[in-house]
Amino acid sequence: MTFELAPGSAAVRYDCLSIGGQWRPPVDPAVAEVVNPATARVCGEVAIGGAADVDLAVDAARTAGLRWSRTSPQFRAQLLEAVAERIRLRRNEFAEAIILEMGAPADNARDTQTDLAVAVFESYATLVNEFEWEETLGNSLIVHEPIGVVAAITPWNYPLYLASVKIAAALASGCTVVFKPSIDAPLDGYLLVATIEEVARECGAPAGLVNLVPGHGSVVGAALVAHPDVAAVSLTGSTNAGRQVSIAAAHSIKRVGLELGGKSAAIIVDDVTDLAGVLSGALADVFFNSGQTCTSCARILVPAARYDEAVELSAEIASRWTIGDPRLAGDHIGPVATRAQYESVIGHLESGLAEGARLVVGGVCPPDRIPAGMENGFWILPSVFSEIDPEMTIATEEIFGPVALLISYEDDEDAVRIANSSIYGLSGAVWSADDDRALALARRLETGRVVVNGGPFNVLAPTGGYKQSGNGRELGMHGLREFLEVKNIQR
Ligand code: NAD
Repeated sequence: MTFELAPGSAAVRYDCLSIGGQWRPPVDPAVAEVVNPATARVCGEVAIGGAADVDLAVDAARTAGLRWSRTSPQFRAQLLEAVAERIRLRRNEFAEAIILEMGAPADNARDTQTDLAVAVFESYATLVNEFEWEETLGNSLIVHEPIGVVAAITPWNYPLYLASVKIAAALASGCTVVFKPSIDAPLDGYLLVATIEEVARECGAPAGLVNLVPGHGSVVGAALVAHPDVAAVSLTGSTNAGRQVSIAAAHSIKRVGLELGGKSAAIIVDDVTDLAGVLSGALADVFFNSGQTCTSCARILVPAARYDEAVELSAEIASRWTIGDPRLAGDHIGPVATRAQYESVIGHLESGLAEGARLVVGGVCPPDRIPAGMENGFWILPSVFSEIDPEMTIATEEIFGPVALLISYEDDEDAVRIANSSIYGLSGAVWSADDDRALALARRLETGRVVVNGGPFNVLAPTGGYKQSGNGRELGMHGLREFLEVKNIQR
């Protein structure tokens, strides 16, 4: 399948699901349209499944699991390494799908989203060999065993990477998967499953390691969560979806891993000398991927004494950010990914103004700044609000758009109090000239991750949330353990 990316060009059509390594139409054929957010035109159509397809997919995964769960770690490592290599070879194709379905610009789609997926498969190819599958504890032999069929349910914001995190860890652990991508960004999921099944055939692994059933959360997602043969559900999505999944999974006491929303804060400490440099880093974290990064620190906490200076600098920095055609290379940002998200971001911009915040720069994109031919797309300018009361709606709800909030604080104690005054606890950041002070503040944040002075992303380190940002951890050894049962054989 090739992707034609010109606006108004022919749409991509995938009319099958992948079940047991075979492409087959849904039991009750139905399709969903995929919309290119840069143009608001339909760019694809995918088959969507129902409960009967979920039954077939779970059965295929269970059958494949009978053999896969008994393979050696070395064999699984070989497959994971081969998948990584195959995605690397096809990185342009994957990136084109991501550009088309969710509007990430070319460099982001390829160098960040696709290359991170490669790094994740590679990391599990290594970890599967390093993990202690069996250990002795006194008179006990402790054995780690795959939990069984995993339902991997993912959102649209980093579709390939977030799916890879779940699928690579599940396959490494010896589990098999039914994968339900977001209906808004399912195209890369087709490429991913086709790639894994192709590699599995070449390696002599069973067919049906990863079964693909796109569909609505309320139908396919719910059927997966309720299915008696699904042993674990791993969901990345909104806190609302996490709540519904937790309630539904409680009936069968399934293991549930949740990676949910956030409203993270970056603390700029009063010892920072290069305020412009620090604000550039903090704002880049907010604007990247058009603000649709669950861990982005959209609340930027600035010492009161430097607040006016920070507002002025942020206006300058944000106005240098550009929006642009996602097909092009460069460091511009693309549209937000869906019409619903666009309307939600506009709603938050309006609510900020209505509650008395000041929009320093940005807002809905004026027509003359929209790339030619893309006037109907979902464009929001990189935006900065000042005069924020931490209790305003925009300061408490996740916006998930390129919107930064500058919040003033009095001292370190006050900064920690504001940062932690959220129902969420996904991520945080500290910018300081003093490593010890930064570390002390990092320890006090109630979040699953803290980035100190822009420290780089670590694909081996656990990611996940405190409070209503979720439970469980993904990536690295922590992610592997999420899909394992532990057996104590005492003799
Ligand atoms: P969403 O919750 O609407 O959907 C996520 C996935 O869950 C989709 O595949 C959807 O179909 C499915 N789903 C929804 N309701 C379901 C139900 N009742 N049962 C089973 N499945 C259901 O989220 P979205 O709009 O696609 O993504 C954006 C959200 O994801 C944001 O809140 C963002 O913060 C969050 N997110 C979190 C992380 C993280 O690692 N914590 C990463 C990325 C995105």
